[in-house]
Amino acid sequence: MSVPCVAVERERGEAVRERLADADALDGDHEIAVDGDTIYIPVVDPEAVPADLGAAIVECDAAERDRPRTPGEILGYEPSLERLGDIVIVDEDDDERAREIADAVMASDVPCETVLNRASPIEGELRVRRWDVLAGDGTETVHREYGHEFLLDVADVYFSPRLATERHRVIEQVEPGETVIDMFAGVGPYAVPMATRGADVVACDLNERAVAYLRQNAARNGVSDRVTAIAGDVREIANEYADAADRLVMNLPHSADAFLDTAIALAGDECVLHYYDIQHEDDPFGPGRRAIRAAAGDAYEVVVETERVVRSYAPHEYNVCLDVRLTRA
Ligand code: SAM
Repeated sequence: MSVPCVAVERERGEAVRERLADADALDGDHEIAVDGDTIYIPVVDPEAVPADLGAAIVECDAAERDRPRTPGEILGYEPSLERLGDIVIVDEDDDERAREIADAVMASDVPCETVLNRASPIEGELRVRRWDVLAGDGTETVHREYGHEFLLDVADVYFSPRLATERHRVIEQVEPGETVIDMFAGVGPYAVPMATRGADVVACDLNERAVAYLRQNAARNGVSDRVTAIAGDVREIANEYADAADRLVMNLPHSADAFLDTAIALAGDECVLHYYDIQHEDDPFGPGRRAIRAAAGDAYEVVVETERVVRSYAPHEYNVCLDVRLTRA
């Protein structure tokens, strides 16, 4: 197709292209062409080409550009989307708009098998939510995070890709040979990478489906020999693993305080506790600090090493983490 192009010597090509971009004169729908020592840069409007470029404007054949099409380009607005493996998650209250977004995602170049919309909050003891399937049909996927693969079904288990950075922060603290107890392990996004770092990990979850995925994920990532996966209430392993943990992960933010007695029973002589909580912005760390000190009583010296806001959870509420060192008194 013949379009107006700025013709310049090759060596001036990039400088001229930048000037044209600054002047909003570039035609992004067509490819730049080269013929011998001359480069042809398609422009949207010859009038918009800065005169001081001293470049000739000619009509020439330019191929149409294969541009990746994003959902935003198709819709004319940027939807809020989250990716989990090959699933795209829409966060939209209006059903019609949710379907419009799902259609745009499927028509775009985003690699995607299924589009879901949140149909409920995260609920119940197992911390699972319901979904509307807007496109595709499967809710099982393989999610990749910091070099590990996690197979999971979002309809059956808890998993949040938004916590990747926080998980990585905690995982990086693990030393080879440690005994870690992940008290609320889900499909293993802490337990499996910690085992990769050389820890022996006991990973417990009440959700049998999550534990089945956890076992598969340990195998998938080559650490089955260092992960002991247990389906059941973590309170029931307190005797068997009493005094065993060098590190405890407590990622059950709404009710972790109810499990602090179990954590103290599992803690070894020196133990780092990663305690997740959700609290009001006025005092996001105080309740956790006080609950941990109360549970430790005289048995442990308690040093809070890190207090970290992980993310904003709701208006005026934060999801926080306390890294706490427990040293037996
Ligand atoms: N750590 C995982 C992650 O980051 O994806 C899962 C965290 S999710 C917020 C909390 C998990 O705790 C859920 O998988 C739920 O099934 C599990 N859970 C709830 N009560 C439990 C209990 N009493 N004993 C063991 N696991 C429990």
